[in-house]
Amino acid sequence: MRVLFHACCGPCFVAVGPALAAEGHEVVGFFYNPNVMPWKEHEARVGAFEQACAAGRLAAVVDATYEPERWLRGALDAEFRCEYCYRDRLCRTARRAAEEGFDAFTSSILVSPYQKHDLARRVAGEAADQEGVEFMYRDLRPQWRESRRRTFELGLYRQRYCGCVFSERDRYRGAPKVPSPDQAGDGDVEPPQPGTDG
Ligand code: SF4
Repeated sequence: MRVLFHACCGPCFVAVGPALAAEGHEVVGFFYNPNVMPWKEHEARVGAFEQACAAGRLAAVVDATYEPERWLRGALDAEFRCEYCYRDRLCRTARRAAEEGFDAFTSSILVSPYQKHDLARRVAGEAADQEGVEFMYRDLRPQWRESRRRTFELGLYRQRYCGCVFSERDRYRGAPKVPSPDQAGDGDVEPPQPGTDG
């Protein structure tokens, strides 16, 4: 099958994209994440995505649409922010897959045990119905450790928070203003997590 594989970031995509291709599918990586703020953080994640695709010899497509104003308006109006966020990204992926004749789409959101897996699965299924293209569901969480191993091996940029300004606040609120010496290095950090208030 020809699969458009939405990548939420390089570290989540780096193992699962090539693994799906190794099954014989034609995989194209697709980056569309306007939830990531600010702009420099977004660009750092685009860079890691492109590096992950190159390492896996996969085609990389970046939707450069970046409209934080629109995204924030939608997020603030939404009853559940993370549901809005998943829907925005997965509907765009499904639409692009349908327009460009892919057989199916999927997303690396399904890799992280820290994301809202069942919610993402449901929203992706609804996006598939809406756009008339197959959603290739896999529980990718068992590949989380391999994703992290490859991320360290390749030295990919690792984000410190899920993406939106709210998740950035929640990640750092309460953290010491001046890191102690043992916190100052680029050591292992807690993985990015979706907000709990969205
Ligand atoms: S916490 Fe993550 S999934 Fe939830 S709205 Fe923010 S960026 Fe999106």
